[in-house]
Amino acid sequence: HRALSKRTLPLATTSISRSISALVIVEHEGGAIKPQSVSAVAAAKSLSDDDNTIAMLLAGSGPSLHLAASRAATCHPSVSQVLVADSDKFSYSLAEPWAKLVHLVHQRGGYSHVIAASSSFGKNVLPRAAALLDVSPITDIVEISGSSQFVRPIYAGNALCTVRYTGANPCMLTIRATSFPVPPVSSDSKLNEAPISQVDLSTFDEDITGKSRYVGHTSQDTERPDLGNARIVVTGGRGLKSAENFKMLEKLAEKLGAAVGATRAAVDAGFVPNDLQVGQTGKIVAPELYMAFGVSGAIQHLAGMRDSKVIVAVNKDADAPIFQVADYGLVGDLFVVIPELSEKLPGK
Ligand code: FAD
Repeated sequence: HRALSKRTLPLATTSISRSISALVIVEHEGGAIKPQSVSAVAAAKSLSDDDNTIAMLLAGSGPSLHLAASRAATCHPSVSQVLVADSDKFSYSLAEPWAKLVHLVHQRGGYSHVIAASSSFGKNVLPRAAALLDVSPITDIVEISGSSQFVRPIYAGNALCTVRYTGANPCMLTIRATSFPVPPVSSDSKLNEAPISQVDLSTFDEDITGKSRYVGHTSQDTERPDLGNARIVVTGGRGLKSAENFKMLEKLAEKLGAAVGATRAAVDAGFVPNDLQVGQTGKIVAPELYMAFGVSGAIQHLAGMRDSKVIVAVNKDADAPIFQVADYGLVGDLFVVIPELSEKLPGK
């Protein structure tokens, strides 16, 4: 843990080189760059006031990879280069080949920083790549105050800790995407198009996927927005009492164009799948509006949603801790409130 050790902090010097050249690990799906990866570029840009060199690294196979690469080339004005690793080995985003790829690309490019979003994917790949590069990663960063000084939450978000990286290059970071919002690109703004190059994989080790293998992929067939990026999230807790009752919440979500979230208690009770879990061990969200129904407000849940702009809570217990963080609180029975709300909202 040398990156976090207070005793080893030198007063003024660090081994990070002054010029910033960052490698951003990119997630893409169906030819589109995931918003959290654009946030990682925004974080790379904020490492210094100078013109940082920022390379985006994409891996995968087939036409969707190349479509994603062309989108990456124009996704942020600060991107200097897009690197594409095109191979069947990356078809399923397994962490082991990805970690090896980051290792290989860093050895060739000598980056000062390697950055990924603090998503399931980033949290899977980055520490493995850091182990291969023999450096200590710093995770879940919410603020960058210099090229080697970062702020990250500790104790389930109840305190913020400033850490300085004093290790060798590269400084490897995962960033909390909700803390690095990307302003929408206006139609009249001029976007540069970064050059796209292929990563030479001729020396890439063949035998790398031994420890994990792709089994299958399931995804909800829904038109609702992705939980991590939705503008509105409606969350149900144990108070909903059954999977059947969650349908009531889904109806409300459809009317609001919202994503559905859940507490761990609701997930553990089998009401909804665990990819809907919000909190310390689930997804971190910061939507414009967060509505919590039948959620008590345990600190582990608050850790995943307390940065939401407006929080609305409905709970029949007036002393529920969720009311301490809510902007609007309604003491009432959710089985009365949700149908009434759905009925009064315009739409089908
Ligand atoms: P409860 O605490 O049981 O609350 C249910 C609420 O519903 C109550 O406040 C009740 O008053 C209300 N209610 C009941 N009926 C109605 C009704 N008819 N109308 C209105 N209100 C009603 N939790 C997470 O959510 N996310 C995490 O990531 C997470 N990670 C964890 C990690 C660790 C290491 C640990 C130890 C715990 C974690 N937890 C997490 C669990 C957390 O501590 C709580 O147990 C959980 O958040 C409680 O979920 P809940 O609010 O749905 O249930």
